[in-house]
Amino acid sequence: MKKLVVLGGGESGKGTAILGHQLGYDVFVSDAGLISSEVKTRLDSIGVSWEEGQHTMDRILTADIVMKSPGIPNHVPLIKQLRVAGISIQSEIEFASQHTPAKLIGITGSNGKTTTTLLIHHILKEAGLNVGIAGNIGESFAQKVAENDHDFYVLEISSFQLDDIQTFAPEIAVITNITPDHLDRYNDDFSLYIKSKLRIAANQNPNQFLLFNADDPVLVEALKSSSTVAKKLPFGFTNTSPIGASYANEEIKLIEQKSTTMISTTQFPLQGRHNLLNAMAAVSVARLLDVSKDSIRESLLSFTKVEHRLERVLKIQNRTYINDSKATNVNATFYALESMEGQTVWIVGGVDKGNDYAALLPLVREKVKAIVCLGVDNEKIIDAFSPVVDLMVETESMKEAVKIAHKIADKKEYVLLSPACASFDLFENYEDRGNQFKAAIREL
Ligand code: ADP
Repeated sequence: MKKLVVLGGGESGKGTAILGHQLGYDVFVSDAGLISSEVKTRLDSIGVSWEEGQHTMDRILTADIVMKSPGIPNHVPLIKQLRVAGISIQSEIEFASQHTPAKLIGITGSNGKTTTTLLIHHILKEAGLNVGIAGNIGESFAQKVAENDHDFYVLEISSFQLDDIQTFAPEIAVITNITPDHLDRYNDDFSLYIKSKLRIAANQNPNQFLLFNADDPVLVEALKSSSTVAKKLPFGFTNTSPIGASYANEEIKLIEQKSTTMISTTQFPLQGRHNLLNAMAAVSVARLLDVSKDSIRESLLSFTKVEHRLERVLKIQNRTYINDSKATNVNATFYALESMEGQTVWIVGGVDKGNDYAALLPLVREKVKAIVCLGVDNEKIIDAFSPVVDLMVETESMKEAVKIAHKIADKKEYVLLSPACASFDLFENYEDRGNQFKAAIREL
């Protein structure tokens, strides 16, 4: 019996253990932290052994294959030891993809993965395809493969998950954009991070597709020197190539090999130019899978908004509150500010991941009347924006931030939470931050 060791008992670890067990592996789950009782009960119910609070090296080193949770960085001693021992380390998506005949659509990028993944899934499902959704979003891909029989999977894939693939090759890969994020995991080297995103296309064959954002200069440049043999299809506002998706006059224009399709976006419920980019990507995928124009158009209209991403919460006394708590980097916040249609009180701050705020200055000068800092250390934000914003207030709780923002905002103005930073200084995660924002608004 081949031995599969699963490092990390979170969502992807649980899923891999379930699939590995089903495939007849002798599975052992090892987590240096604690494993949730729900996962332990599940593992016990199928007779998979596990440990928590430690890694028993003797046992781990007997593995034929190790599945590493994407949360475990490559430089930790445990992983180095496994590499020295020559043991195959795979990511969950690698392992799962080897055990399903389904066609895979993989979405990666710095921002827009979740929205684009959900949108593609929605369009394909509405068109009647037998399609599942997995990856970084919700349930693990491996578990879905173990428990379902889908013909297609739409997978949200982080760069960490791409670090340990060997053969994974989606039928259609999408790269939404590449902007600096998570650089701490890549030795502060942007080129390493770019490389890991491009790995989504590394094993694709010439009949498979790579959809890329043609408006993103970093991505376009990186693709020039990439060795991918996949068919490259651009999408973007500036796409002038004779193929791919572009946008003009509230319509997405899709030039395919033999025809051109126009799809109206007048009633597309998501706001902002970035969401039109996400829609261009999603429409391109759907057309590659032969979904009809009418079906795509209807699905764009019926797509429901995604929580914590430019989510309109309420209008109170003619002031509009927008929750963009998921904006944890500068690029996401750029699009949020860009889509504001009036003067804005901007709530920003948290754990800075090496942000360069220069790109935001013109938008902030134009649209932001006041900044409410919400973080433990706000120095960088104050330094960056004090030349262009007169009123800046520091706060350390969401309630206080919302109260102050409400006082400053006038009629017809906006209060935007778009932190450009991670949330861990004051909140559990971005969902907690967004939920506290919404609760504070309702208490006004
Ligand atoms: P991800 O899963 O990559 O984090 P999300 O869809 O959850 O992406 O969106 C994260 C943040 O980025 C939100 O603030 C959202 O408004 C913004 N965003 C969404 N799509 C894009 C895009 N194509 N480019 C830049 N920012 C985007």
